[in-house]
Amino acid sequence: MPELPEVENTRRGLARHVRGRRIVALSVYEPRLRWRIDAQLAARLSRQTIRRIGRRAKYLLLELESGTLLLHLGMSGNLRVVPAATARLKHDHFDLLLDSGQALRFNDPRRFGSLIYSEDPAQHPLLKGLGPEPLTGAFDAEYLWRITRRRRLAIKQLLMNSRLVVGVGNIYASEALFRARIRPQRAARRVSRTEAARLVRGVRTVLRQAILSGGTTLRDYLGADGAPGYFRQKLYVYERAGKPCRRCGTAVRALTQGQRSTYYCPSCQK
Ligand SMILES: [Zn+2]
Repeated sequence: MPELPEVENTRRGLARHVRGRRIVALSVYEPRLRWRIDAQLAARLSRQTIRRIGRRAKYLLLELESGTLLLHLGMSGNLRVVPAATARLKHDHFDLLLDSGQALRFNDPRRFGSLIYSEDPAQHPLLKGLGPEPLTGAFDAEYLWRITRRRRLAIKQLLMNSRLVVGVGNIYASEALFRARIRPQRAARRVSRTEAARLVRGVRTVLRQAILSGGTTLRDYLGADGAPGYFRQKLYVYERAGKPCRRCGTAVRALTQGQRSTYYCPSCQK
């Protein structure tokens, strides 16, 4: 599943192809994505210029002269930039045709992706209640300290709650907690101020490294430039149960939290 680093890399890869380009047409081959693509959308987009491409959580935001397109990759989606005449592949669901003669083409076998138009994305129900972006100053030690007070919830589950902070998926939560030397099952309220600062640094470090190495998910994901991610080779604990901790040699342990697998080192993480 594309996580925040893959989406951010897709955004960066697409920017030079779409920024400043005019939309010539939207061709929809399969409107039944997570939400049905609005039949009026093509008329609304035609001749609009894409001012810039942004990101909020795992939504790509194509900012137009009027309104914004919210594009989500879902579980298995990817975007390619191809010459408009390129033959379609199975599961290619729409083309955004640009005045460069290229098409922004969306492929998604499982069809959990989406394409939605919004006049005011910040107030859109899908985005409105989201927590801060982990790579911005809004997610700092003071903020994490504050939201963990009086919460009995395990710290890892708190990190994965998108209403508190977005984009910290299962892999990155496990890896960030390892770097911060905190056990994933610890009650959030037992995290000290110092540890909150370490954890913010851990989250930022793992996400930045994953972005730099092109993302993590090797099986399903190809970035906008078609390059798979290599972050997996740098993981400390994720999917390493029984293997020696890369820091101390103790066997990495696995447990289940909220139906997700969690990995940690019982020596390094307290
Ligand atoms: Zn260890």
